[in-house]
Formats: sequence, structure tokens, C-alpha cells
Amino acid sequence: MRLSSGFIPTVKETPTEAVIPSHQLMIRAGMVRALAAGVYAFLPLGYRALKKAMEIIRQEMDAIGAQELHLPALSPIELWEETGRVKAFGDILFHVKNRPLVLAPTHEEVICWLAKNHISSYKQMPQMWYQIQTKFRNEPRPRSGVLRGRQFLMKDSYSLDSSWQGLDVSYDLHAEAYGKIFVRCGLKFFVVGASSGAMGGTGSQEFMMESDAGEDVIAVSSDNRYAANVEIATSRVPGAPRDPESGPLKEVHTPGIRTIDEVADFLNIDQNRLAKSVVYWADETHVLVLMLGNDELNEAKLMSAMGKEVRPIEAERLLELTGAEGGSIGPVGLRERTPASKQFKIIADNRLKKANNLTSGANQNDYHLMNIDLERDCTIDGYYDLRTIQEGEESPDGGGPLRVVKGVELGHIFKLGTKYADALGAKFLDENGKEQPIIMGSYGIGVERVLACHIEQNHDENGIIWDKSLAPFMFHLISVGTKSKQVRDASEAIYQEMTAAGFEVLFDDRTDVSPGFKFKDADLLGMPYQVIVGEKNLAQGKVEIKVRKTGERIFVERERLLEYERSKVGD
Ligand code: ATP
Ligand code: MG
Repeated sequence: MRLSSGFIPTVKETPTEAVIPSHQLMIRAGMVRALAAGVYAFLPLGYRALKKAMEIIRQEMDAIGAQELHLPALSPIELWEETGRVKAFGDILFHVKNRPLVLAPTHEEVICWLAKNHISSYKQMPQMWYQIQTKFRNEPRPRSGVLRGRQFLMKDSYSLDSSWQGLDVSYDLHAEAYGKIFVRCGLKFFVVGASSGAMGGTGSQEFMMESDAGEDVIAVSSDNRYAANVEIATSRVPGAPRDPESGPLKEVHTPGIRTIDEVADFLNIDQNRLAKSVVYWADETHVLVLMLGNDELNEAKLMSAMGKEVRPIEAERLLELTGAEGGSIGPVGLRERTPASKQFKIIADNRLKKANNLTSGANQNDYHLMNIDLERDCTIDGYYDLRTIQEGEESPDGGGPLRVVKGVELGHIFKLGTKYADALGAKFLDENGKEQPIIMGSYGIGVERVLACHIEQNHDENGIIWDKSLAPFMFHLISVGTKSKQVRDASEAIYQEMTAAGFEVLFDDRTDVSPGFKFKDADLLGMPYQVIVGEKNLAQGKVEIKVRKTGERIFVERERLLEYERSKVGD
């Protein structure tokens, strides 16, 4: 491709609307243009890179035996009503005004519809179907370029199995393929266990890239072996101590004392002798959650423990049920207070297991109870891991202290189970002729996101630094000093030779821009090798090669140029 006639509208200045490097560089390198907020046009250079990513994804999906299909973006709204996802997606779902259709944000429903109509026996499974297709999501504030678009390409695949073991196999195949895809795309990534609570699945992992542009928060051990979304991350922290003897319950007056720090100071006791109470709604019931000291309750963990949506209780309702305000509430005698408080569930964080001589609220403003023995003085309905880990705590696998970092999700693999088959009635006959719901998995990769993440990880102050795997062109041929006929002819000949040899070459043959301008553009566009044809070197029978990544400059004999390039394409 020639830069003189090609459509690669580069921009010198950093666009003001772009905050993250990949967004800035994709605009500056003429790869994309925003048509509307979160809606991007891919221009020729951007599309070439995108196709490279799609090709790698296709090869690895084909390699695990997945079959490519292509589903429509428009989807009947009834399907989404039946699975309850019109409500679940809420504002994210794009509705069509003049027909009962939605623009699909993902395709579980449509896959399930296909399965329902065409899979009737265990003999027809397993199946793995995938597509690379446009998804629509009305993301609230898309401001990270193609990293979070309102329209984006997703590689989504789905597995259909007749057994849970079968689902494990399909899931593991995807996990392996995903690892290969991201390695081939030159991405540094890590895999995290993710919360699958509200989605009702049985297992899920996210493939993440560490980046300040990310919206997920992840705990990573210092040896990188342990990584988990903070929604489920755990750490090695000791529990509250248990004394050989439990002291007698004692009510103490604590005027105006509310927070854990205040109570610890006022009563001169250690924070790991304090049980903090927080009260939540879990659907229509109430739950009192006991946390040790200043430990932070993790709502995602609470939701998994309860198996229900949770939300903090309102202050008035709290007073009505407990007789006290936040800071003076506790587990002892709570259920006996009013007929309504009988229904209280009381659960505690694992760190409080078997704890005694604890202090907590007395369910009366300005009073606390000391010497509480959780086993003696109240009935705890269950102990769960409910706390949010903190930076610096030891990783659960002993892999060093945890760091808390931000990450972007590149891909997600998910054991859905029978949720969709149950909702849409996708059934098959098993070996015994018994009707069973089809067991599904779903697996996604954001294609533009792979590209943007690649640029996030591979750039410098001058521009993009493409890895060979995704580079739109392997070589950027630059003709320097085009006033000279010798240079023009030599670069033209080299361009012809290289394209005939099958190399991907971007040829800067422009005669109306300065060499400095061409070099700047070449660094901005970021092809792995710059082949620089200039008068001085030509006179010595040489051509200069600049390696974009290292800045290394090599002078190659004109006669041996193709040979040299061939060795670079292959290595
Ligand atoms: P996120 O938490 O980043 O919103 P998600 O959990 O909504 O992601 P999934 O529904 O699992 O994502 O979609 C599968 C993949 O599609 C994601 O791993 C991500 O790579 C990509 N993806 C999701 N939303 C977008 C978007 N708005 N723009 C670009 N890619 C996206
Ligand atoms: Mg999302």
C-alpha cells in the first residue's frame, strides 16, 4: 500500500477527547474515527490489524473443533423476555422503535433457540459454535475508545453438552485456546477467577490485562500465580482469638461512641475483639452481618453467600427492627426484639468463627455489650468469607503479598449450566430416553479490545510499537530524498520486489513531505521494521533498517535486502 494514495489520515496533535494512550494513538495513526460516542469507523490501517486479530482467533477456535456461524444482530424481544434479560440488561439493551426487536448485546438466547429447534438427542452433542459478530450495548459513559464501545465485535462461542463432565471439557478447551490466542496476540495477561453469583453459573474465569484504563479491580500475588477479582479474592489473615474462658456478658455505656476506632479507644480493647454489625436486605428478608474490627464487607461475596440480590437497609427500617442506629447494633437478643426481627438471619465472616470475649452493639443507642461468645450468646446461621482483602495481605497460596491493581477484561469463559435451556425449554433425550435440559457454556473475547490492549502495552511517546502478529504491515518502506531520481527508482524497485516476495509493505512514496515528517509518521504507525532508502547509503550499496521496538539500526547490502527481510518475517 502506498502512502501517497492510501487513506491513512494521521494526526499530529493528541486529540483532546482521548484520555488513554490506545485511544489517542488509534486516532493519531488514522486507524479509527468516532462516528458517535462509542461508535467507531475502522479505516484501512485499523481494519488490517483487526483482521489479523480475527484470523488468530479463528485459527485457535477452529483448532478446538468449534464451528463458525454468523447470527443476526437483530433479535426478537420475546426471546429476551423469556430469559428475563430485558430486565437484567436494563438500559444497556438497545431497543428497536418500530418492531419488537432488540439489538443483541450477546447471543445466548439465539443459540439456545437454535439448539431448542435442532438438538434433540445426546447423540448430537457436544457442539461448539462460534462467531465474530457485532454486539450492541448502550454503555453508560464510553470514553476509552474502542476499548469500550457501544457497538463492538465480539468473538462469542457457545458449547452445548449433554453432561456436566462434557461442559468441563468444552470449558477447558476454551481456556486453553484463549491462552494461545492472547499469547499469539503478544499480550501480557493473567487469568482470574471471577464471581459468577448473580448470573447463576457454576464457574467462570476472566482473562485480564493490568492497566489503569481498566474498570475491574483485581488482587494479584507478587509471584503472579494468584489473581482474583476483588469480588472473590481471599487472603491469609488470622481469625479473632478464642480465650479459654468466656467472661460474663456485660453492658457498658458508650455515649456518642459509634465507629470501631472510637469503641476500641474508649474501651481500650483490641480491634480484633470487636464485631461490627452491618444490616442488609437480601430480597425481602433481613440479614445482620458480623465483621471483625474494621474489616470491609464485600457485597459480591454477601450476594454469593445469600444466593440473592442484596442492598443496605435504610436507616429508619434499621431503627424499627433493632431499636438502635448503626454503630450500636449487635447480634445478642436481636431476634427477640420484635415480631419482625424474629426473621433476622445472622451470619458472620470466617474470621469470627468460634470467637469469644467480643464487643458489639447492644441494640440500644450508646450501649455496647462486652464478652460476647458467638457460640454461647447467639445463633449464627453461617460463617462465610465476606471480607474485602486489603493490599499487602498474604496471598492465599502463600505467593507473597497481594497487590490490588486495575484491569481490563480481554475475555471471559463461563459455565452457564442449564439457566438458558431451562428458561427457553431447550431439551434433549439422554441415553435412557429421559428429557434433560441442554448444558451450556459461553465464551467471549472483545476483538477491538484485543487491539486496543495490544497498543496499551506496546507503545512509546512516539507512537505504536506493533508486535509482528497484529502489525497491519510488517515493513514500512521509506523513500528519503525523493528529489533524487536514483532514490525514487531504487525505492520503487524495492517496493516491487518486496510485494512480489509476498511481504506486507507500507510504502511512504510521498514526494511532498520532508524526511523528518516521514520518520515521525513511521514511528507513529509503528510497523516492526522501517526500511529506509536514502541517497548516502545507496551510494554505498546499502539500505538502512530501523527496528521500531529497540531503535536498533542495521545497514544491509542492497543485494541481500530480501534475504534479510525474509529472515525477519520468519523469526
Ligand atoms: P466489561 O466488564 O468490561 O463490561 P463484560 O463482563 O460486560 O465486560 P462480557 O459480557 O463477558 O463482558 O463480554 C465478553 C467480552 O466482550 C469481554 O471480555 C470484552 O473483551 C468484550 N466487551 C464487553 N463489552 C465491551 C465493550 N463495550 N466494548 C468492547 N468490548 C467489549
Ligand atoms: Mg460490560
